[in-house]
Amino acid sequence: MISLELLHDEIRACRRCEVDGFPIAPPPLAWGQAPAPFLLVGQAPGLSDLRGERMYLGPAARKLIGWLCEAGFAPDDIGTIVYMTALTKCFPGRLPGKSTDRAPSPKERANCRPWLDAQWRLVKPRVVILFGKMSVDTFLPKMSLEQAVGHTFDLYGITYIPLPHSSGASTWLNDPAHRALLAEAIERIREQRARVVGAAPTPGASRRPLPPQAGEG
Ligand code: SF4
Repeated sequence: MISLELLHDEIRACRRCEVDGFPIAPPPLAWGQAPAPFLLVGQAPGLSDLRGERMYLGPAARKLIGWLCEAGFAPDDIGTIVYMTALTKCFPGRLPGKSTDRAPSPKERANCRPWLDAQWRLVKPRVVILFGKMSVDTFLPKMSLEQAVGHTFDLYGITYIPLPHSSGASTWLNDPAHRALLAEAIERIREQRARVVGAAPTPGASRRPLPPQAGEG
């Protein structure tokens, strides 16, 4: 099995989707440490990630990391205890004429899946956080976000925890009932964190501030 460093180098050199004619913006992004007890899989990098050359740098990511900190993680756990990646590693570009990102197509996701599988083998996660509906649909049986968020799913020795996407483009969290489901999901992550790496701080306890992160995503 290759090292994580070598795998990241190979991912960064990948141009499969560009060769297939998709309007992606390389380079592919890969970072973090392995093994890690938690793996987070989102949809695709955003423009801020591309500019910062690292995934999970934009406003949606800040909100997501805030949720993880609510669940007891410290900012230093991001990229260490929690390995953060996505179904595809390249910024897919904007939708034509819009400021929202294009969702990666099934072909791009299929192109990128071997990279995700290789990351998974090195990370050896015990808990996988599925960030957004596309990620939930990739790993769990067909269900609505309402049915998924707030629950855990144990499959083949791994615990999956669905989260909604935190992007401002998503209206799902405008519904108070959905925000209550998110609170449940954060509690599920807290429980799994306690199970896997030890007790988390009490909700509301003072924590180190999040590191500054630039741009949008
Ligand atoms: S999205 Fe994945 S498969 Fe496609 S070019 Fe980027 S790294 Fe390669």
